[in-house]
Amino acid sequence: MEHLYRFQNRLVYRSELKGTVDKGRKQRVVLAVGAHPDDVEFLMAGTLSLLHKRGWDVCIATICTGDMGSMELRKEEISSKRFQEAKSSARILRAPYVCLGESDLHIVFDNPTRSKAIELVRKIDPAIVITHSPEDYMFDHQLTADLMWDACFSASIPNYATDQANPAKPTKRTPYLYYSDAVGGLDRFGRRVRPDFYVDIGSTMNIKEKMLTRHESQRRWLREQHGIDQYILQMKKWSKERGSEIGRKYAEAFRQHKGHPFPESNILVSILGRGYIEVG
Ligand SMILES: [Zn+2]
Repeated sequence: MEHLYRFQNRLVYRSELKGTVDKGRKQRVVLAVGAHPDDVEFLMAGTLSLLHKRGWDVCIATICTGDMGSMELRKEEISSKRFQEAKSSARILRAPYVCLGESDLHIVFDNPTRSKAIELVRKIDPAIVITHSPEDYMFDHQLTADLMWDACFSASIPNYATDQANPAKPTKRTPYLYYSDAVGGLDRFGRRVRPDFYVDIGSTMNIKEKMLTRHESQRRWLREQHGIDQYILQMKKWSKERGSEIGRKYAEAFRQHKGHPFPESNILVSILGRGYIEVG
């Protein structure tokens, strides 16, 4: 459990993100933030993989430890297991994994949590942030979207002190902010969330699947419950549904935050090329 306490008490530093975030190419860093371990894999790993292939450094973070993700293991045991699984998945993109140490179903939008999220943005200093849909099937996801909007907004404000140990400097820019699809493409009313655009992930589906497979504790749980590999099948089904909306095999859907002071152009078009992006 040493690693979890370490992440709960302070965030890692750029210099500790070994071999992954290159200081000289600081502007080409994408930060993906999910509420729980495996959310990033379900919702955006295909797109992250495309960015990684184009030379971008990826950092994966979660707000929670995943401590509710087991019917048998105690919170500490499952957290520890899921930390290792998330790290192993992130390693496929040579990405560091950072956990902000909150407990599942306990995310709140309060000042201590805001401070940690802002410190995360300052330490990683990403050009692009991708997080959950503000409308989703569960509260942790929606709060993560709000926390990351707030963190991207506030990270550059010099008088905002995060009160973290060895705080990073305020950032010099507001990152591009994207919201992933809602889980299953549906909001809390069961209505389909309409994307701004889609990314064709046909060429990186194998990597997305490989990353998700690393979350073995969750995969096994569903497999035992359903008798089939529901975990991977579900992810493919959702990616296929979004793909079919644009005539491609697999796709991930996104919306962009365009309110002041966020950049409004779609940087993903210039990085990935028009062939990969389909407007919704
Ligand atoms: Zn989740």
